[in-house]
Order: sequence, then structure tokens, then C-alpha cells
Amino acid sequence: MTSTTTARTPGRTNKPQGQWAVDGRAPLNPNEEFKAADNGLNVRQRIIDTYAVEGFDSIPDDDLHGRFRWWGLYTQRKQGIDGARTSKLAADELSDKYFMMRVRLDGGAVSTEQLRVLAQISVDFARDTADISDRQNIQYHWIRVEDVPEIWRRLNEAGMDTVEACGDTPRVIMGSPVAGIAADEIVDPTPVIDQIKARYLNNPEFSNLPRKFKSAITGHPSLDVVHEINDISLVGVRHPELGAGFDLWVGGGLSTVPRLAERVGVFVRPEEAAEVWAAVVSVFRDYGYRRQRTRNRLKFLIADWGVARFRQVLQDEYLHRALPDGPAPEPSRGGSDHVGVHAQADGRVWVGLAPTVGRVSGSLLHELADLAEQADSRRVRFTPHQKVLVLDVDPERADTLVGQLAERGLHARPSVFRRGTMACTGIEYCKLAFVETKGLAAHVVDELERRLGDLGLTEPLSINLNGCPNSCARIQVADIGLKGQLIAGEEFGFQVHLGGGLADDTREGGELGRTVRGLKVSANDLPDYVERVVRRWIEQRNESE
Ligand code: SF4
Repeated sequence: MTSTTTARTPGRTNKPQGQWAVDGRAPLNPNEEFKAADNGLNVRQRIIDTYAVEGFDSIPDDDLHGRFRWWGLYTQRKQGIDGARTSKLAADELSDKYFMMRVRLDGGAVSTEQLRVLAQISVDFARDTADISDRQNIQYHWIRVEDVPEIWRRLNEAGMDTVEACGDTPRVIMGSPVAGIAADEIVDPTPVIDQIKARYLNNPEFSNLPRKFKSAITGHPSLDVVHEINDISLVGVRHPELGAGFDLWVGGGLSTVPRLAERVGVFVRPEEAAEVWAAVVSVFRDYGYRRQRTRNRLKFLIADWGVARFRQVLQDEYLHRALPDGPAPEPSRGGSDHVGVHAQADGRVWVGLAPTVGRVSGSLLHELADLAEQADSRRVRFTPHQKVLVLDVDPERADTLVGQLAERGLHARPSVFRRGTMACTGIEYCKLAFVETKGLAAHVVDELERRLGDLGLTEPLSINLNGCPNSCARIQVADIGLKGQLIAGEEFGFQVHLGGGLADDTREGGELGRTVRGLKVSANDLPDYVERVVRRWIEQRNESE
């Protein structure tokens, strides 16, 4: 599929951007050099044969801080290093000899048997840690390289893995958490996700991309996969002549230069969706910018090209056919986090649960598997909002399940604050963080419930905390987004963004939050600040807010 064109982009400078299709393949930075020297996928065998046997100190730098990511492994932040030293220390000085391990769960889907395997790995190898990420993954901490082969053996035996969970690869394919069960679903994305996994993951043709590549696919009208902030999204629509299929979006992403995805304007039939996905990834692989790491997500190419040119290249050079024009998705009716008890198409119910800021544990996942099975369920799904759903529950047992899980901190009827607050990993384990996030966010939730619980708020309210400007917890699209950074002198706290949102919370379209100029809040002042904002919003809102 590689393009043969050598034409330069009109209006661009002649400085090479590292586009394989335009500039050739000469590496332009150290990351491109190690990727060109040896594909990241190849490190798996070295981990099994050498590093797990000889230990952490036997791992060379290119593998440790480079290719390990291709298998979901990042070194963990050394304990006790405060935020003031984050940007002053080299990666080696910041790193512990333990790893964060990300298990990719495409579509967020696991059986209760798989859940038990995930739980036991946490108990045996990860000091009982397990975080539900906002990309439907499970993340462990405290992983030793010596234990990685056994963890992989258990995961693989249960049909799970960590391949391309990080790195410059196609990351986990996010999917609607209610795929195949919702009565109002337009199209089930599950076959497309399965085809992409089988054909294109762990595949050297797609494992050296300019940067990470994020995908999301949904056929649910609640628009439940945050499609505006992925590199590619396929969103369920009904074409008046061609039936149910997908609307293609490209070029979304947050980080330090946020940009919302745009519709390409084409209709994608379900049976061709995996092929179209591969063609979009191929355009990115061949034309994406590889010179600067801060300017190489697909969104930068889309910003320069525009979607019309992107569509032309996609059709002419990769698909070799034109795609039909298609309709836009209908506006969401809300409820995209799927929390609560909801009827399925088959008469059973799903129970959507809010763990506080996505934090669970191996022990809790064991209990979740047991209680789910007692309610006749064999399936669980994680969501892009750090939530978890128990599917196929016998309606008569739903109330009992809700009560049992609430006692364990998994709430099907949470306050708006517990439901709408997300936090990234933060300084506890992340080498890039300046501030603590998860524990602080949980404290803010407790305080807001105590101070504002009697107001009976029911409107969705999103409060997202990041430990640094990278936006893993999507601060720019939250009602209240809080970005960890230096706020004065040596003090670290949060820069405030207000008023962001996505189409899934019933706005007409995605919207990026405004940075409140100069407004910075310390961690200690955060509960008071958020309380003030919420009270002012209640007093001043109009009917549409
Ligand atoms: Fe780490 Fe920053 Fe991402 Fe938080 S937002 S997990 S601190 S990189």
C-alpha cells in the first residue's frame, strides 16, 4: 500500500518533515533512529530470553526507554521524587526499576474468567494495583521485568495481551461498551474491532508509525467513545440508501496542542471498515511527520492538508476507489458513560458502575467477577470514562448486585461528582507528572459530596485532573479541567480550563475548554475552588446549561 508519490506538499517549506513518502526514510531524531534500527515488536523475545533472566540492569537504554513501550511497559517513577525535580532529572534518574504495565483490552471487553486472570496478576505481581484507564485498558504498577514472561503467559492463555499497548503503534481500539447489547444500537462495532486486531496488530507493517495512533469505533447513538479526540474514529450512522455503517473522523487529539477530529464526509460500510482503518493508518505511516516528536500526531498532517486532500490521497493512493458521501451522526442524547441499570435488547440489564477516578485493585476485580457471576453475568466491559459495566445481568438480581458493589466502592447510582471526575496516573507513578492526581481527585469528590450533596444536582458535570500538560485525562474537554504545572515560585498546582465538552454530553459538537487566564489553584485550595465554581454555575446558569 505504500505510496509511490514524490510530490511535495504545495506551500510547505523544503525542510524535511520526515515523511516517508516525501522525504525518504532517513531518521531525523533519536526515536526514529531506534525504530529504524530494530522494530519495537522484536523486544518481546529479548525480554523473555535475556532481561527477565539477567534482570533490570541488563536492559540497554534503547529497549528500556524505547521498545519496551511496544509491549505496554514504561518505567515507573521513582518513589519520593517531588514535582519540582520532574523536569530537572534525566529519565534514568526519575525511573524506578519497576514498570507500569498496560494491558490492552480492545473494546474494553473481558469475560469474568479473563477478569479473574487480570485480578490474580495484580495480586501476584503488581502489589494489588489496577487502574481502569480512560482508554479501556487496565494498568498495573510495580511490575518487575523478571515476572513479565509469566504475566504474558497468563494473559495469552486467557486471550489477552499487552502488544502495542504503548509506543508509536495503533494503540487499543476503543469500542462502545454496550456493543451488541443495546436496543438502540445502530451498528455493532465488534466484528470490525476483531478484524483489525487479527489483521493489523502485532504486524510489522503497522508497528513503526510516526507517533501513537488512537482509534475509536462505536455504533451507539450516545456517541460513547469520545470520537472527537482520536486519530481515527468510526461512528455509527444510517445511510438513506446504503443502510447502517460508519462516518469516518480523523485528526483528533489533545495533549499540549489540542485539536478536535473532523469528519472526512465518507460513508464506510461495516464490511470494509477494517480495510479503511488500515488505509488511514497507512497514510499516517507514509505521510505523517517524523521530524519533531511534539508535532507528529495525525492531527498536524490534517491541519496542513485539510480533510479534502486527505480523502483524495486515501482514496487514490491507498483504497484505489472512491468512498460514497455519507451523513453525519445524530446529536447524542447523553448517557454515554452508561452508568446505572439499563435494559438490554434481550431483556436482561447491564449495570454501569463508577469506581472513584478509575482506581480499583486486583482483590476488588476478583470480587467483581464473583458477584457478577452470582447475578448470572459472564461479561464485563470497561469504558472510556474510567467506568465498568456488568452485562447480561438477570433483572431480578440487579438490585442485589448494585447494593453489593456499592459496599465495595463501585457505585451504580453515584453522585454527579463521583460519576464525572477522572484523573490520570499523576505523580504517584508517572515520570512526567508534577502533581498528585488520583488521591487528590478522590478527596475533592468526597468534599463536594459533603458540601454540595444536599443540592441534589443531576446534570452531568465533568472534573478532570492531569498531573502535567499531556492531557491523559482530557482536561481540555471537561467542564472543569485541571492541568498540573508550576503555579508560582517552586509551588506546583493546577492551571484551570473551564467550559470544555464533547458531543457525548449532548452538546451540538465537541468544544475545547477556555484556559482561565492566569487562574492557578494549589492542591490545598482545590476543594474550595471547585465548590465555588459549581455554586456560581448553579446560580448563574440558563436553561440550556
Ligand atoms: Fe503522566 Fe501527564 Fe499523562 Fe498524567 S497527563 S499520566 S502526569 S503524562
